[in-house]
Amino acid sequence: MPAHALAAGIREGDFRAADVTDSFLNRIAAVDGSIGAYIEVFETQARREAETVDANRAAGQTLGPLAGVPVAIKDIYNRRGFEVGCGSRILEGYKAPYTATAVARMEAAGAVILGRTNMDEFAMGSSTEHSCHGPTRNPFDLERAPGGSSGGSAAAVAARLAPLALGSDTGGSVRQPASLCGVPGIKPTYGRISRYGMIAYASSLDHVAPFGRTVEDLALALTVLSGEDPRDSTSLADPVPDYCQPSSRSMEGLRVGIPEEYFGEGLNSEVETSVRTAIEKIQAMGATISPLSLPHTEYAIPAYYLIATSEASSNLARYDGVRFGMRHTDAPDLESMYSNSRQAGFGAEVKLRILLGAFCLCSGYYDAWYLKATKVRTLIRRDFEEAFCNCDVIMAPTSPIPAFRLKEKLDDPLAMYLCDVLTAPANLAGIPAISIPCGATSEGLPIGLQILGPALGEQEILRVAAAYQNATEHHQMEPIL
Ligand code: GLN
Repeated sequence: MPAHALAAGIREGDFRAADVTDSFLNRIAAVDGSIGAYIEVFETQARREAETVDANRAAGQTLGPLAGVPVAIKDIYNRRGFEVGCGSRILEGYKAPYTATAVARMEAAGAVILGRTNMDEFAMGSSTEHSCHGPTRNPFDLERAPGGSSGGSAAAVAARLAPLALGSDTGGSVRQPASLCGVPGIKPTYGRISRYGMIAYASSLDHVAPFGRTVEDLALALTVLSGEDPRDSTSLADPVPDYCQPSSRSMEGLRVGIPEEYFGEGLNSEVETSVRTAIEKIQAMGATISPLSLPHTEYAIPAYYLIATSEASSNLARYDGVRFGMRHTDAPDLESMYSNSRQAGFGAEVKLRILLGAFCLCSGYYDAWYLKATKVRTLIRRDFEEAFCNCDVIMAPTSPIPAFRLKEKLDDPLAMYLCDVLTAPANLAGIPAISIPCGATSEGLPIGLQILGPALGEQEILRVAAAYQNATEHHQMEPIL
């Protein structure tokens, strides 16, 4: 069942929260051995939380909108008293001293936190292979990657090991795995959800972002998660609409823009066919389709990787062997303790990014690399602003390719970085974007349709996504495990 249906059933007394949680825990025990979605399952605590929901209901208390709904959280979220590792050896044994706002809001809404899910180390990657815990496998083909970096959360929802999950999206880390695992995922406007307590990768690009079984689940999650937070100065004060309120407006008159740059070289032909068929379907439902151009798209990947690595090199300076996680004690002096700890604690991809980022920020190089990338970012943002003068939403593929084989791109960072070519622009622009299932390849691998909207246009993209979902059956595709 989708999360919103579970919430309704528990509220109505059709079933008990404790039974719902038990059934997910049993399924995790039965099938997660072959997938590796979870790093840790909070079994005892989850049971206790579910029983509290049942007790509250029996006592006649009003239940929160997610009461009794099991939620999986990416290993990037602090939760007080629980270990948090960001998929990295450097945080080994580290316990969170406080709770991230996104998790606190889920808890306050009555959610049962099932456990923490696998991810690329510090959210750097597109396959969930860069994790100190080993890879997560795609539930639709265990020899393939689930995408990344939130691959554990995406695989958990796809394999029915959680109806709802939190990921994070800095360059596509929710939408790309959503696409490869056949589930919906949404990245809202920058600042819509507080980042407080979500371990920082690239602060100007990081977004809290959820996965759900259906578009309605995403609407429910966004309603719970969104809002201003004094602990995150970039969080937005704009009022939060009730994203669950179904809109009665039809697709009639909806203006859909199709960016030609998103259908270029490197796009898999089966992905292209499915996405174009989805667009035709929306046209048949009454929308007008017109081509448009986002001329700076080709600079998105270079700009993204300059900005993301620069910010990462600064954010990751705090892991010095002193304040968090592991320390290398076998060192003759302080300086070597720092470097030995970082040498032993970080994986190869994270080291590569720190070196690239430190280089971009060096005096003498700063203007040529980091500063120039931020100017390119402005041009990309303007491309979108102009595009949205003539259309309501933009449609494109989410990922240029379906799920690829494990190890296929592991030795080729550039090939891995190109996975983000269609998702990173929305992070650079800070605009909302959703990925929803729209078909499958001949081998049965899921394909995702991406719908992008202007800043704070979440309601509109959710409305369009829900209309498409409810007129098709792609979201019901289930892996055979
Ligand atoms: N694959 C991209 C990267 O490695 C995006 C990751 C993300 O969104 N966290 O930077």
